[in-house]
Amino acid sequence: MIPVQKALNVILDKIQRIGTEKTALLDSRGRILAEPIVSKRDHPPWNNSAMDGYAVRHDDLSRAAVQQPVILDVVEEIAAGALPQETVKRGQASRIMTGAPVPEGADAVVRAEDTRAEGSRVRVFQPVEAGENIRLRGEDIQAGSVVLAQNSLMGAAEVGLLASVGRSQVRVYQRPRVAILATGNELADLDDELGPNKIMNSNGYAVAAQVMDAGGVPMLLGIARDSREDLSDRLMQGLSADLMVISGGVSVGAYDFVKEALGELGVAMSFWKVAMKPGEPLAFGMLHAKPVFGLPGNPVSTMVTFEQFVRPALRKMQGHSLLFRPVIEAVLMERITKNPGKTHFLRAVVKKTEDRYQVWTTGSQSSGVLTSMAKANALIIFPLESADLEKGRTVKVQLLDKSLSGQPDPGY
Ligand code: AMP
Ligand code: MG
Repeated sequence: MIPVQKALNVILDKIQRIGTEKTALLDSRGRILAEPIVSKRDHPPWNNSAMDGYAVRHDDLSRAAVQQPVILDVVEEIAAGALPQETVKRGQASRIMTGAPVPEGADAVVRAEDTRAEGSRVRVFQPVEAGENIRLRGEDIQAGSVVLAQNSLMGAAEVGLLASVGRSQVRVYQRPRVAILATGNELADLDDELGPNKIMNSNGYAVAAQVMDAGGVPMLLGIARDSREDLSDRLMQGLSADLMVISGGVSVGAYDFVKEALGELGVAMSFWKVAMKPGEPLAFGMLHAKPVFGLPGNPVSTMVTFEQFVRPALRKMQGHSLLFRPVIEAVLMERITKNPGKTHFLRAVVKKTEDRYQVWTTGSQSSGVLTSMAKANALIIFPLESADLEKGRTVKVQLLDKSLSGQPDPGY
């Protein structure tokens, strides 16, 4: 039995980045860029107006005041999307809209609010400084510069940036395909008749959802019966996947079948047990370059071990540098005890109070109680050698992918 941290190190050490693919810009969202992006042109491409107003020569307006407006001849109107035709000469102005190119001769834009149009002329009531209300060519992006470095995480702003440099396709790391196999004679699938001796294969679906949350693509292999032949047959169907997850059959009893089946397949096992609860029986090995996880069958154990090991592995494959869930410190609102020797992950609810986080367990920590996983927004990490955590002390809490309870403060 090895500690959680050791198990994680063994796993992450073996995980290699997956290949890359070209994808449509929007499909890159949430993924990691596999190429640096260089802009072919300046953005904005020309000096342009930051305001609706008049493009002017600032010298002309040095004496402008409400009582003493300066009158300029308006030589043209420049809409966004138009190109200026006229040069602004002394005593002249061009009406200009936000985003339109600043014409030759003009060196500032006076806001429409500081003017009054009069036929082909305009009265200006305010002076402006050179460069005022002009956004300079290349202010955001210069031609030839790297807009986004390789390995950037593609969020909404990054998608916008790549659109602004005209990239409709972008190279990102692939989404790993994850074969998911449930094992157990007691299991039925969603559309099967649920006999009196059967329970639903909930793990297949919970794990598939976790795979998707982690950026992967689930391949559901269905249910293997507890026999070596059926296990082997079904595992063979998952060989095209980039990673394999088997649920159940790794504890004592059915244990031998999964072990034998994986051995037969040629999986080189690194370990079979981790010092944690839930989830002590937990197998990891490699089938050539393909990571293979044998997760415990109890629904909470499956999900918690996936969170600790499979999710970081999937994220590493996809080029993420942030592999883990955020961990915060929270005040423990009840006393909790255990025997030393295993790291416990307790389903919990974290709440934000004015100046700190508070955390409660969700009650029963039985690894078969999936409802308490649904109630939890976090996992309390009860360290390996600790036995007693007093109410009121601070504990480390792993935040799951749910908002903290209570209506979040918008923070204005
Ligand atoms: P095992 O690890 O195979 O000994 O299974 C441990 C417990 O988890 C048993 O009570 C199983 O019935 C249950 N279990 C195993 N696989 C699944 C599954 N795919 N969905 C729901 N429960 C499962
Ligand atoms: Mg079983």
